[in-house]
Amino acid sequence: MHIERILAGWVDELEARIYRGLEVTGFVQDEAGVDVELSDGRSMRAQYLVGCDGGRSLVRKAAGIAFPGSEPTISNLIAVAELAEKPPEWGVRRDAVGTHALAPVEYEIRDGEIVYADHGPIGVLVTERSPGPNAEPTLGDLSAALIDAYGTDYGVRSAVSISRFTDAARQAAAYRKGRVLVAGDAAHVHPPDGGQGLQTGVQDAVNLGWKLAQVVKGISPEGLLDTYHAERRPVGARVLRNAMACAALRRDDDRTTALRDAIGELLGMDEPRRRFAAMMSGLDIRYDLGEGHPLLGRRMPDLDLIAEDGPLRVFTLLHDARPVLLNFGELGAFDLTPWADRVRRVDARCEGVWELPGLDAAPAPGAVLVRPDGHVAWAGDAGWSGLTEALGRWFGPPALS
Ligand SMILES: Cc1cc2nc3c(=O)[nH]c(=O)nc-3n(C[C@H](O)[C@H](O)[C@H](O)COP(=O)(O)OP(=O)(O)OC[C@H]3O[C@@H](n4cnc5c(N)ncnc54)[C@H](O)[C@@H]3O)c2cc1C
Repeated sequence: MHIERILAGWVDELEARIYRGLEVTGFVQDEAGVDVELSDGRSMRAQYLVGCDGGRSLVRKAAGIAFPGSEPTISNLIAVAELAEKPPEWGVRRDAVGTHALAPVEYEIRDGEIVYADHGPIGVLVTERSPGPNAEPTLGDLSAALIDAYGTDYGVRSAVSISRFTDAARQAAAYRKGRVLVAGDAAHVHPPDGGQGLQTGVQDAVNLGWKLAQVVKGISPEGLLDTYHAERRPVGARVLRNAMACAALRRDDDRTTALRDAIGELLGMDEPRRRFAAMMSGLDIRYDLGEGHPLLGRRMPDLDLIAEDGPLRVFTLLHDARPVLLNFGELGAFDLTPWADRVRRVDARCEGVWELPGLDAAPAPGAVLVRPDGHVAWAGDAGWSGLTEALGRWFGPPALS
């Protein structure tokens, strides 16, 4: 809720219009745009339609984009509710069916120990004996699952929220079909293990947003949108793979316990732990932009710079979602004028180490071109070989003087 408020506040600042309380009920696309049908009977014409409408995405289905993957083998109910009776203890419990947990939503940490509030709503997580139906769960479902797991439902009532999640893992076969694109859970669903769904979806949107803006403004050709599928689908596939592996480790039989212990031992070692942390956090993502500097396609490190106006951090330069050419002194002669309306040039000094999760120190480049999504489009030195091509590829052809 807190994150939603922050994001909604940001959207307000951008003066994008939100139509609340309306649903998309269908659409028709032609060569020039998409007619979107709304639940109040009206329709809207748009150049492109991006379905960010969750795992059951109507937009994905109506576009005819396949969603292959694995069926659920297990399901969980997660809820915030009141209990009439206090359970003998709070916390996590494992049995042959799976993991269950009961605890007050409010707590504080005192001397390293969790101290739960003695009032307020209770967070409930309960594994169902067999995968529940693909429908909104009810208080009755929650009560039945609690009785199955704990022998009682503790008088559960007044649920603020109840939702069901499963270990199903599916990914859209295509992230773009003509003028329709999908992002977030509409493009990929997977078990929540490792907490990777939201970050992957937000990264989808950040990858797509600037490309879509450039195409709509006529800065770049439509083909730029195909790089969205090419870059983001492999990232989604990797998230599905590691979330499925984590979910498999949740089981409580002897063999899985042995496997969990073996993986635990492996993650006790520095290198495997570093690699897994870099992967699960998504901080090691490298888009395949071809051969070149080790930073090419990776996230630009958030280095401390000394620029003409004083010290600054690289990420502050990305706040207005425009490309930046950072010049560390080797590119004095490069003429950026044909892209000056789109690409900001910053001359700076940098003494930090160029390192990233998943990449040990990289050689410091003389200059680096950073896309609005924070990924490196080009990195090089005095000869600026390939910079003109990278500028054209990502930020449109040079302006005629
Ligand atoms: C238990 C659990 C824990 C998780 N923990 C984490 C975590 O720690 N970190 C993390 O990164 N991720 C986590 N996730 C995953 C994360 O919650 C999801 O990946 C994320 O919410 C997906 O966002 P979304 O906007 O793509 O889809 P959704 O959140 O499903 O939003 C879709 C929106 O589209 C709207 N919509 C649907 N159909 C239509 C229509 N036809 N017209 C108009 N609007 C429509 C819906 O009302 C909804 O508002 C967790 C998931 C679960 C189940």
